[in-house]
Amino acid sequence: MVAHLPSPTLNLAFTRNQAYWTAHNLGTMNIVSVHCHAKHRKAEPSRHRQAHGYSFESCCKHGDVVLEKLKQLPEPLNSLMGGTTLQSKNFLKDVRRWNSLFAFTSISYNMDNRTTAQGDSFHLFQVHGAVYHLQGPLKAPTGRDAAFSQIYLYDPLFAAQARTTRAEGLDTEIILALTQMFQESSPLIQMYKTAKERMEEAEERSGQFRIILNPQMQLVVESGADRRRENLPTSDEVALILPEEYGEAGCRDLVLAKRDNSGPVSETLTIINQNHASYLPMHYVLLFPNGELGWHWGRELRNENRQ
Ligand SMILES: [Zn+2]
Repeated sequence: MVAHLPSPTLNLAFTRNQAYWTAHNLGTMNIVSVHCHAKHRKAEPSRHRQAHGYSFESCCKHGDVVLEKLKQLPEPLNSLMGGTTLQSKNFLKDVRRWNSLFAFTSISYNMDNRTTAQGDSFHLFQVHGAVYHLQGPLKAPTGRDAAFSQIYLYDPLFAAQARTTRAEGLDTEIILALTQMFQESSPLIQMYKTAKERMEEAEERSGQFRIILNPQMQLVVESGADRRRENLPTSDEVALILPEEYGEAGCRDLVLAKRDNSGPVSETLTIINQNHASYLPMHYVLLFPNGELGWHWGRELRNENRQ
């Protein structure tokens, strides 16, 4: 670290002059956890030396957290992610765009542009506050094209065309093939379709309501001022046994649909709670194409004596 006082005209926490920046090297990411095989850097704290290598707190609590193995990716995604063919290499070059094209949710953050435009020695991605994943209404607001989860409610061929218009330079045949693949592999799509049907039924009745996905992965309609709840049937494939005590906190629900989506876009989007089991599969769709559940409060440690 080079000690340097910033110019008095700038905020104390910010220095404009890159000449005084020094890189902090965390080391190569080549230290493998003996328990879960996650890769770490040598500079990471809370590591313990074991007989056959290192164990870490941050990945698996020194072996106390054991996750289910991920299923093999369905085709053609598996081949596209392999990196062995020219088509796959091109796919991986744009893999973030491909993921965004199929994500159920969008990402939102407040970008800090003060440092990114200066010089080319560092590439900085700097944000103010937290990074959010946003969930929109099931129907596109009037005058706007369908996006994210709304596209999944279309017929696959039409959905592929809708995506193509948002994906300049990406291979249209792959868009169609992946659209069809997700229709078959992801239980989340069926869940959204059920929610949309229920929303249309509820729209015929008067009054405020919303459709949510609770932490037990049940679709629920909430209606009336006292938020009466009515459970809806969902596919067994997405059922999650999460104790009721965790589900009581309404803030962990995920709002799939609200009646009023005619207002400004900022009012129709809701932030997804990152403790919801669907937080990861709804955004990182290429990694969890079968709708595998992400981290949630129902997970248990292997060693019951540890907290
Ligand atoms: Zn680990």
